[in-house]
Amino acid sequence: MLSLRVSDIKQYLYCPRVVFFTYVCPVEKKITRKMEYGKEEHVELDRLEKRRTFRRYRLEEGERKFHTRLYSTRLGLEGMLDMHIVSRGECIPVEFKYSSQEPALNHKYQLVAYAMLLEDTYNIPVRNGFLYLIPGTEVYPVEVTPNSRDFVKETLRKIRRMIKTELFPGPPRGQGRCVDCEYRNFCRDMR
Ligand code: SF4
Repeated sequence: MLSLRVSDIKQYLYCPRVVFFTYVCPVEKKITRKMEYGKEEHVELDRLEKRRTFRRYRLEEGERKFHTRLYSTRLGLEGMLDMHIVSRGECIPVEFKYSSQEPALNHKYQLVAYAMLLEDTYNIPVRNGFLYLIPGTEVYPVEVTPNSRDFVKETLRKIRRMIKTELFPGPPRGQGRCVDCEYRNFCRDMR
């Protein structure tokens, strides 16, 4: 089974072509300012988060673990999780996102995929996680439901099928996504 990354799920749900350009027809993409800024914010958050209580995560206590590499042979999936909290037999994934808007669906499913990786690592059920939006400090709870797990598995199947068949996928429904896309020069049917 081809090993995929959690970020592939996020990208595929944003636009399948991004994953096509990564695995089937690699091209050199531009590093955007947004990507660089996001990295700096992550470093700062690690420092601030260490001093905060666990109340915002609906916990009284716990242990934070930062930048954990996770892998599941069962799912053929790997990823680097920003933070997770271990507390009394519970495990909660937290992903930091650079965004001024409410979390998008692809970010929610990325978090569900991390929850599934944590389950395989700790061998305990993970029922929810949080998306932490930066540069603000809001956290959004995300429920890890049976349907959301099935959706993640189905997305992994679709990605593997696309890579195997090497079929160039169609563009996303909203062409607004193309405006700030680092692959824009390679999608000649997009204006
Ligand atoms: S330019 Fe548009 S269609 Fe092309 S990869 Fe980016 S989002 Fe997808």
